[in-house]
Amino acid sequence: MDIGKNLKEITESLPENVRLVAVSKTKPNVDILEAYNAGHRIFGENKVQDLTKKHEELPKDIEWHFIGHPQTNKVKYIAPFISLIHGVDSIKLLRIINKEAIKNNRTIDVLLQFHIAKELTKFGLSPDEADVLLSSEAFKQLTNVRIVGVMGMATYTDDNNQIRNEFRVLKSIFNSLKNKYFSDSKFFTEISMGMSGDYPVAVEEGSTMIRVGSKIFGERNY
Ligand SMILES: *Cc1c(COP(=O)(O)O)cnc(C)c1O
Repeated sequence: MDIGKNLKEITESLPENVRLVAVSKTKPNVDILEAYNAGHRIFGENKVQDLTKKHEELPKDIEWHFIGHPQTNKVKYIAPFISLIHGVDSIKLLRIINKEAIKNNRTIDVLLQFHIAKELTKFGLSPDEADVLLSSEAFKQLTNVRIVGVMGMATYTDDNNQIRNEFRVLKSIFNSLKNKYFSDSKFFTEISMGMSGDYPVAVEEGSTMIRVGSKIFGERNY
C-alpha cells in the first residue's frame, strides 16, 4: 500500500469544495503518520478508546472526526478535542455532547445522521424524526452544540443507480432542513456522504465531505 499515492489520487480527483476524511480506524499510528507526512490532516475514527489514544500519541494539528455514533457515557473523552461528530441521531446524544462541550468551554460541531439505505441495520433519523428533534424545546436550549449538516451511508451494493438515488435523498433532506431550520445559518453547509466504494457517485450528487478508509490504507482486518 502506498498511502501517500492513494491519498494524492483521491484528493486530485475531488472538486475544491469537497474535503476528504481519511478513515484510519483499526490502522496503526505508522500508517496515519505516513498520511500525515504526505500532508493530510483530517482523520476519522469510530471508537472512542482508539481515538483518544491516537489523539494523545499523534501530532496535535490533526483534525479528528468521530465518524460513528459515540456511546453517551464516552462522549466526555473526546469532547476536549473533537472537530466534528458525524453520526448524531438523537436528542439524548445532542444533550450529552452539549453538556460536555460546556464543561470544555467550547462548541462542538455535529452532523445529523439520516437513514437512507435499504439495510435496517444502519443508524439514522428519518426526516419526520428530524422535524420532531429540531422543533423541540430541548433542542432550542442547546447552547454549545452546532449542527453543521447531514451525514448518511448508502446501501452496500454494486447497483450504482440505487446508491445514486440514496445520495439524492440525502441531498434533498439537506436542502429542506436548510430551508426550514437553517436558512439564516452560515455554518449549515456539510453533506457527509461517500466511502471507498461509492465516493465518486457521492461527489457527483453533492457531497462536501467524503469518508474514505480502505482505498487509502488498505483492507481492514478486524
Ligand atoms: C469505516 C467507515 C467508513 C470508511 O469505509 P471504507 O469503505 O473503508 O472507505 C466511512 N464511514 C463510516 C461511517 C465508517 O464506519
